[in-house]
Amino acid sequence: MLPDIKSLNREEIESRFAAWNQPAYRVAQLLDWLYVRRATDWNAMSNLPKALREKLREQFTLQTLELVHKQGTEDTTQKFLWKLADGALIESVLIPANPALYGEASDRHTLCISTQVGCAYGCKFCASGLEGWKRNLDVQEILEQILAVERHVTNAQRAVAVADAPGVPRGDETGGETPPEPAGGTPAPPGSPLEAASPPATRNPSRTVDNVVVMGMGEPLANYDHLLKALKILNAPWGGGIGARKITISTSGLAPQIRRLATEPLQFRLAISLHGATDAVRNRLMPVNKKYPLAELVAACETYQRVKGRMITLEYILIAGINDSLDQVCPLAGLAKRLFAKVNLIPYNRVEDLPWQRPSEEVCEGFLAALEKQKITATLRREKGGDIDAACGQLRLKTERALAGA
Ligand code: SAH
Ligand code: SF4
Repeated sequence: MLPDIKSLNREEIESRFAAWNQPAYRVAQLLDWLYVRRATDWNAMSNLPKALREKLREQFTLQTLELVHKQGTEDTTQKFLWKLADGALIESVLIPANPALYGEASDRHTLCISTQVGCAYGCKFCASGLEGWKRNLDVQEILEQILAVERHVTNAQRAVAVADAPGVPRGDETGGETPPEPAGGTPAPPGSPLEAASPPATRNPSRTVDNVVVMGMGEPLANYDHLLKALKILNAPWGGGIGARKITISTSGLAPQIRRLATEPLQFRLAISLHGATDAVRNRLMPVNKKYPLAELVAACETYQRVKGRMITLEYILIAGINDSLDQVCPLAGLAKRLFAKVNLIPYNRVEDLPWQRPSEEVCEGFLAALEKQKITATLRREKGGDIDAACGQLRLKTERALAGA
């Protein structure tokens, strides 16, 4: 099978182009098509010579994600279900930072992305692990989630703008797959001196996603190499241009990989899915705790915190009768203090077929207040009726089961 062009970083494309005797500026042009204009077709790359496009087509794929289903609307959380080239399904969730009031579009967005098809870690409360692990996502499948969402949002906005423009017939509103015009205007004709001088892609003018959280389906640190390569491309000025501090990696607690992440030069944010502040509670919920018990996990987090000097987030799902009693507050506050961490409390989202329940609002508020009394910085997610906010993995599970039933 051919590799996908978006699984290569800049250096790899440069060395390939050098071997093909292509001038260096062609690399910048290609990257501009891939990451700024988000092209989905080699033919669209009009300033690359036809022979080069043919060569690229022979040696690489240019895959995109097929949208199978979307829940939510422009101004709310939107959940995208994608089909990959082999038919596997994954999800990404786009969350507006300021849910728009009075019909104005929100301008800041966080995208939650997946890193694996399914998950091998089998946390007892999670939909992603219910049917086991199928495979790791490739570099380009991780990256494409951001590009595909941005293409979708840009096309939707363009369709609305065209429909709103006076005198434009409705038949003209198909956004299609045509890439948007570059900020600098029409590209220079192929081969012209102007073309060589055209500026390289350093900034994406039409970025929809400004924060990325790697909290979708799968355990990101179990797909370490693909994840890191994808995140480096996402971070690079010639790629996605998203700052490392705007990228959060969430892990169920793979201690050795946390230590490895601490050696990376980029300053990613780290979130730990803790969900229990003692081994007894955590063992009940997360099999990974048997392999890397709290002492080992916390030691790895301490290293990360020390090396990076960055605040870690401890994610704590509140599950009725399992981890929501106040006797977890002291050990949780102790861990948070040791790690200079803040705590995110998340009332459990019900998963079909699983017995777990979300505690009452009073219990959640009481847990938060008890933590704050211990001088811990903590937040409690309060939105109600998490139909589509439901944790990643649920939409895929439902769809796969419906397909199997059919
Ligand atoms: N595997 C990684 C990242 C994906 S899970 C991890 O475990 O951190 C992302 C987050 O969603 C984790 O904190 C996970 O515990 C949480 N989650 C999973 N199922 C959930 C549910 N039903 N309700 C609320 N949060 C859930
Ligand atoms: Fe996997 Fe994370 Fe779900 Fe656990 S919580 S099963 S590690 S996706």
